[in-house]
Order: sequence, then C-alpha cells, then structure tokens
Amino acid sequence: MPNRTKYITADRVANFQMNGWIHNAAVRIVENKIDDTLPIDQLPSDAADNSEIIHLGDVSLIPGLVDAHCHMHCSATADAQALALAEKDDIQRLTMRAVSAMRKAVLAGTTTVRDIGSRNEVAFPIKQAIKDGAIPGPRLLVTGTPITITAGHCWFFGTQADTADEVAKAVRNQIRQGADAIKVMSTGGMFTPTANPRQPQYPAETLAVAVREAARSGITVAAHCLSADGVKNCVEANVHNLIHARWYSQDPSKGLEFDLDTAKRMADQGQWVDPTIGHGMLGEEATARGEAPPRSVHWSVASSDVDNEEHYETLNQMRDLGARFTNGLDMGMAHGTHDRSAANAWAAVELLGWDNWDALRMATIDTAEALGLDNQIGSITPGKTADLAAFNGNPAKNIRDMDRASTVIQNGNIIKLNNVALV
Ligand SMILES: [Zn+2]
Repeated sequence: MPNRTKYITADRVANFQMNGWIHNAAVRIVENKIDDTLPIDQLPSDAADNSEIIHLGDVSLIPGLVDAHCHMHCSATADAQALALAEKDDIQRLTMRAVSAMRKAVLAGTTTVRDIGSRNEVAFPIKQAIKDGAIPGPRLLVTGTPITITAGHCWFFGTQADTADEVAKAVRNQIRQGADAIKVMSTGGMFTPTANPRQPQYPAETLAVAVREAARSGITVAAHCLSADGVKNCVEANVHNLIHARWYSQDPSKGLEFDLDTAKRMADQGQWVDPTIGHGMLGEEATARGEAPPRSVHWSVASSDVDNEEHYETLNQMRDLGARFTNGLDMGMAHGTHDRSAANAWAAVELLGWDNWDALRMATIDTAEALGLDNQIGSITPGKTADLAAFNGNPAKNIRDMDRASTVIQNGNIIKLNNVALV
C-alpha cells in the first residue's frame, strides 16, 4: 500500500502567487492534493517513516502546464495539413496518433490540455480512455469537431454549418456528445486551401448564436480569427477566447488593419487571446536547422508580406490595453509537437519581450483561470490537485530551461522521475 503522504523537495519551488521561488522547499502531497510547501529543514522528524520523500535537487518545481490549444490527432509534421485532409476518415490511424500525442503531452509536464478541434470519433473516446486510466494523458477538455462553413477552415474534421440555425444545431450536437467548450472558425485559415484566412466565415450575429447556445450549458466559445473583420465579429459576439487574433485586411494587397477601439472593447469585455506564436517559432527554428518548412502557407496571405514583428506589435498592443493571454501551442500543427507547450513561454519572452514570470503564469495559472479551473490547478497552493512539473535549471532566468519536464506528478502520482517515464 503506497504512502498517503509524499514530500517532493527541490532547490526552487514556485510560490503560491507564481511570481517567485521558495528556495530549498518541500511540497507535501496528501493523496492527490497539495497540502503545503515548507522549508526542507522543517520536514517532520518522522517523515521518512510514514511518507515517501523524493529529493529532486537542482530543479525548478512548478505547477503542471496548462495548454488550451491542441489538435490531438494532427501529426505536427511539416505536411500536417496534407495528412489531415488525406486521413480524415481513417479514425483508427487518427486515434492511435492521438493516444501517442496525449502521452507525450503529459510526460512533457503539460498536465491539462484543452483540445479545440479534433474529430468527435477521436476526441470523446480519448478523453474517456484517459479518465478511465486506460491510457496515460493529461486532464483533457475537448470541443470535439470545430464548427465551420461548408468547405471552410478545417472542414475535413469539422461540422459544416452555414446558417445561424445550423450553427445553433451544431453547438447543441457537440454539447450532447459531451463538449467542454465549443470551437468556431470565424475566418478561413492557413490550414485549409478552400478557406481564405482574410475573409470572415460568419457574421457577428451567427457567432453570438453559438455563444448563447454554449452559455445555456455553461460552456464557452473559442473562435479562430485571422482577419481584422473576424476579430471584430468575435468581439461583437463576445466569444470567450480569441484564437490567433490576427488583424489581416480583407484586401490581399494590404497588410494588417489593427483597430484600437475593437482591441479596447476586447480588453474591457475580459476576452482572452491565444497568441499561438510558439509553434511558429519552433517551425522557423526547425527550418533553420534544415528540416522541411511547414507546407500550409495560404495563397491569400502569402500574396502580401506581413513581417512577424507587426503581429507581435498588435499582440502587445492588445495586452497593453488589458487583454489577457492563454497558453496555446496549436499542438499538432506543423512543428508544434504535443510535448513542446513550453515554447509558448519562450516566444512570449523572446519575441514579445515579456517578463519570465508573466510567461510562466500564462503557461499555468492564467490559462487555468481562462478554463475555469483555477480553483483546482495552476499553482502550488494547498487544496489544489497535485499536478506538478520539474525542470532542470531556472526558467525564471532562462525561459528555455522550461522545455520537457524531467519529473512529472499528475494527480499525486509520479508518472515521470528524473527523465524516466513511468507510464
Ligand atoms: Zn488550432
């Protein structure tokens, strides 16, 4: 019979507020909950007799990462887009890929994942299998299939719905299957040759129907938006989480059309932004190493060059106005392998110029709050679920020290110890 109590000690343990380290500390875990953080030299004298003590040494122990943007059955290879189309009906292949991806994610220290766009036939059974303990994986929230227009963004794993009535019905269908949130494609996207990223797919009124139908069941809407008009529609409809939040003009000869009033209203409404810049950075680094570049750049965007810096500028403008950011790698897209959620924090620090702790909070407590789970996870606080990740080095100094975790504790269970996977 395993001990009910564990002490996990580390040179650096994140404090409750996620803004500094407690040095030479031990986290006491009782069953599956965090009980306390205490100095190592204050461990009870009989601790070794009736509890398990694990000394991790020179690591940084933080809450398990929370990633709110996954596609569990996408390949994360350079040809992810072509594969998604070619394999769209091969449920067994997609399921097996998802099983592998979910294990990778949790063993990297991402103990909570929200999938916002995978086929229903894969997403819901995978969620159940993880819950049943049949396969390893993170705490999983799923939308199931995204809702999109006919031939729209990601139609090959989406529900195609064109009118407001069809969208309402599609939302209710996802709720019946057990969706934890709803994903709507408010504009076209890079991933889909037939869906122009610069063009809105739905008017604001139709997005508002999705928000209303989701709210009836107490769940929220995340909406993909790549164009200025798409962002405006998402703000008008007050969707909970704007995914990408890029400001491309509808006119392909033009660049971005950032609108200050829209951004202000977004912040005032408390909408969350998923900047999705981590996997782009991973893609550029992979390309620089000589790997195949992502093969899904869309004709309508490629026709006008927008420098990455311009996107970073608009992201920081939204943040400066008060919009808050979720952690979302877009796992499964080209080079966004399911074990690299930490790259979002790298991108926030290196590309957006954020403070390291701001990036660490985005990756943990902030995204937990956006998902409505901050009373259960996201910080090392007594009473919360014992989901922890340890990283060699000190990510408050060098954000890239946070990559794949060396030790992972999920729901009080050690599932990876000193780089050895135990599940
Ligand atoms: Zn995505």
